[in-house]
Amino acid sequence: MAKYDNNFTDLLRNRLSIVDIVNHYIPLVKKGQNYWGCCPFHNEKTPSFSVNEDKGFFHCFGCGKHGDIISFVMEYKHLDFLSAITELAEMAGVPLPTVKQKSKAEQEAEESYFAIVKNAQKIFTEKLYTPEGEHALAYIKNRGFTDEMIKKYGLGYAPKNNIISNKFVDIKREKLIATGLVRQGEYGLYDFFRDKLMFPIYNTKGHIVAFSGRSLDGSEPKYINTSDTELFHKRQTLFGFNFAREDIHKNNRTIVVEGQIDTIQMQCNGFGETVAPLGTALTEDHLALLCKANRNIVFCFDGDGAGQKAAVRAAGLIMPFIRDNSEVKFAFVTGGKDPDEILRKGNRSEMEKIINDAIPLVDFLWKTANTNYLVKTPSGRAQAEKYLKQEVNKIQDNLLKTEYERDYKNRKFNEWRNYNNKKDDINIEVPEIDSVVKNTIIFIINKFPELAERYGDFLNKLNLDLDQEGKSDLDFNLNQAERYIYSLKIQKYLEFLEEKKHKLIASSLKSGISASDEIQRIEQEIKKLYDKQDILLNN
Ligand SMILES: [Zn+2]
Repeated sequence: MAKYDNNFTDLLRNRLSIVDIVNHYIPLVKKGQNYWGCCPFHNEKTPSFSVNEDKGFFHCFGCGKHGDIISFVMEYKHLDFLSAITELAEMAGVPLPTVKQKSKAEQEAEESYFAIVKNAQKIFTEKLYTPEGEHALAYIKNRGFTDEMIKKYGLGYAPKNNIISNKFVDIKREKLIATGLVRQGEYGLYDFFRDKLMFPIYNTKGHIVAFSGRSLDGSEPKYINTSDTELFHKRQTLFGFNFAREDIHKNNRTIVVEGQIDTIQMQCNGFGETVAPLGTALTEDHLALLCKANRNIVFCFDGDGAGQKAAVRAAGLIMPFIRDNSEVKFAFVTGGKDPDEILRKGNRSEMEKIINDAIPLVDFLWKTANTNYLVKTPSGRAQAEKYLKQEVNKIQDNLLKTEYERDYKNRKFNEWRNYNNKKDDINIEVPEIDSVVKNTIIFIINKFPELAERYGDFLNKLNLDLDQEGKSDLDFNLNQAERYIYSLKIQKYLEFLEEKKHKLIASSLKSGISASDEIQRIEQEIKKLYDKQDILLNN
């Protein structure tokens, strides 16, 4: 049988949630840490089929069937390995790589890769405690790192000279180059990391696959990472994830911070569930990896403009991954500080408060819509609405999507209605209109967009879904279309005034306080409006 390399099947396992896939075929309910359903492989009435999202496997306590996402699809749909992989790749939206057998040579290459980077890490750590690495050690100690922390995370120092290319002379140069630690220059091999504070990067299985090096002389960029290799893909790797796994499970959430030092300080100060991307913006692959472990995520960003921007981006990316049981939140560290600085000063409770005060996703999107667009104007509100709609449409869970839509509809009503009528001579509440009228208006606006601008203030109150086509049996020209909208506006205003009049009459009867002046004024206005309607009808 042809075999895909582990990278690809791992990619599928990372990208897809086993719960989503199984739930697609049999209903699952979350109980405790696992999801449960009736086993599709034997006949049963009470669920003994469990699915563990974090570990990515299913297990039936009834018939003993056990496997991962790939074997589930194979068994359930009676597919061979290749077809199951093809189907899953399609669901994950990733192209199928060309089939290749993992040869003995490739396996050997992998083993030598792991051995080289592991040895390199040992050398870097040794160097940290020599006079050569003094300034690196001073720097990291100054940032509050203890020897214990240095040991746990395998920190080290890559000296100025070419230590790796000089020390690993018995290893074939292609093998060395494959690790990204050395490069081929005009005069032979040279080290990629020189005079850097070294942070090993581990894969999910806990093997070192790459390094991140921090500059110590103030030169930019602050961090350089190993370029992507066969075994290291920056966009799919989260710093600290291998250390965080257990705490993510235990604390039932993940905290995402921006930097590596932040991650280590967080993990060592009681926030073991913390991870960070590697000096890049978060990617879809990062989020897929996170959501597979746990769908409760607190994103912790700088409070500055760049942090806000990064948060908006993260929110946009997380939308397809949220479920009705996920809690996604956004925390901001303000005052130009970062988590590392706060924790270094021993202010654990300050950090805890920042995390606890995190804003839920639904509020964060609303806040973003209201700060990024001028919602005081009709066009600003339209843009804000488009933004919200675009984000909500990414939600895969239909019920959850409906809830978001309902929530924003209420907020729009409650928080935006005061902006609606400022410049309008006719002032009414959100009027009720039936679906025929609604469709007609949408039809008209799509045909004559200029009317949308002219009557924006009124139309905004109708909460129309302008992405729909709308329909009408009447064939309007521009003049007729405008009359239709104008007369509707008058009609709605009439309804509003009639109601206001009745309320006034009722309250004055009840209280015994005369409101006849006010009632008379309303009646005059009503008469004027009927006159207007007459003129419209007779022209
Ligand atoms: Zn079973």
